[in-house]
Amino acid sequence: MAVRRPGLIALFDVDGTLTAPRKSLKTHLGDENIRDFINFTLHYLADIDIPIKRGTFIEFRSGMINVHNIRAKMVEVLREKFAHLNLTFSIGGQISFDAFPQGWDKTYCLKYLDEFEEIHFFGDKTYKGGNDHEIYESARTVGHTVTSPDDTMDQCTTLFLNKQA
Ligand SMILES: [Mg+2]
Repeated sequence: MAVRRPGLIALFDVDGTLTAPRKSLKTHLGDENIRDFINFTLHYLADIDIPIKRGTFIEFRSGMINVHNIRAKMVEVLREKFAHLNLTFSIGGQISFDAFPQGWDKTYCLKYLDEFEEIHFFGDKTYKGGNDHEIYESARTVGHTVTSPDDTMDQCTTLFLNKQA
């Protein structure tokens, strides 16, 4: 058992926490698996039977169409179809979801931080299904939900800088 020294470390999500949100593409699964996954996903999207003229299923906004309640069902289909790839799915943004190898969520780094007594984590997608959820909920971290880089700065200033004044 490692001896933990006093003190703390702060960990930060980047996208939406330290910087303005941006897109990313992960290609660690191999070209053939990535191709199959993308092809299936595009076919799935093309085949979705969207009741385009009913209720609030689709929300028209300036510059975008927001399709409601598609992600959860799509993730279930992808999870089943690509079970052999052992992927974890999480909702990482307003209109997307992430797919990554199991165990590659953000808690992966915690095994390298065993010596730290107190680990704070700051992230913007800390809700269930969000890509910060696992590390935010971890028993090893003190989780903080932020809404923007400015909010991250405010929370850190309050928590770490004002504390010592
Ligand atoms: Mg984020």
